[in-house]
Amino acid sequence: MKRDELEEILEANRYYIRGGKLANYIPELANANPNTLGITIAYSNGEIISVGNCEEMFTIQSISKIISLIMALQDHGHEKVFSIVGMESSGEPFNSVSELETKESHKPLNPLINAGAIAVASMIKGQNVNERFSKVCQFLYRITGNENVTLNRRVYESERETGDRNRSLAYFMKSTGVIKSDVEEALDLYFRLCSISVTCSDLAKIGLFLAMGGIGQGSQLKKVSPEIVQFVLSIMLTAGMYNQSGECMMKIGVPAKSGVSGGILAVAPNQMGIGIIGPSINDKGNSIAGLKILEDISRRYKLHLFSK
Ligand code: GLN
Repeated sequence: MKRDELEEILEANRYYIRGGKLANYIPELANANPNTLGITIAYSNGEIISVGNCEEMFTIQSISKIISLIMALQDHGHEKVFSIVGMESSGEPFNSVSELETKESHKPLNPLINAGAIAVASMIKGQNVNERFSKVCQFLYRITGNENVTLNRRVYESERETGDRNRSLAYFMKSTGVIKSDVEEALDLYFRLCSISVTCSDLAKIGLFLAMGGIGQGSQLKKVSPEIVQFVLSIMLTAGMYNQSGECMMKIGVPAKSGVSGGILAVAPNQMGIGIIGPSINDKGNSIAGLKILEDISRRYKLHLFSK
């Protein structure tokens, strides 16, 4: 894809930065610049094209859930992980409490809603939270090559101070045996993982890593097994955009994961990784401009898995 074409798509959708609003339930996220808009595409041939505000850092938020899932799958294998969390999509908001109680097993529906991601974080191996967190940062550094992919302390503190909904999910799961380890540690790790700073170029590189089946460009990059990547992409396709995943499957048709800071990571298998930032989100927690941009990229370049 040519840079001009990508610029055209960005400008055609700039209007949408005015829709929706910034996430403010995590107070620090309300300080984001609502005018930020950026797209990066990382191609399988090594080419990277960025347009707009691609070097601006924002917190990864729920996009970290796919990284935690990779870690837990590497640490325990899929049978163990999916005995703790389900693999079904959810029609409820990402931070829903109600679904935890109605299911007989009390298993969170999938690893990409908050409950599931907290349970997954509780499984990542390491001596303590610091060690587990730096294991994830190291992994991200190897893929992105960006040493600034680290904790944004202000967002982390803001999450920790106001994360009562997540706390309630975690304690409920502790009471039902879904979380077996120290619940405060699981929450602390989860808050830290959501507060990792990235750029949309970083997201595109992570997307490309998944698009290529878990193989990175850097020689020191440890491979992730293709089976794990297959699991992660599948759950992104069915549940990555929360209770808008069905609509995204119809209109976009590639695995994607969003975060409430307005980031979206998308994967066109064997072709490219896409990173987008647009901080205004809709009531499902997905970037409004980001979704429109992704829809245009998918349509124009026939990325939909079922396009002819
Ligand atoms: N840190 C956010 C939360 O826990 C992540 C949610 C999101 O990005 N959808 O609520």
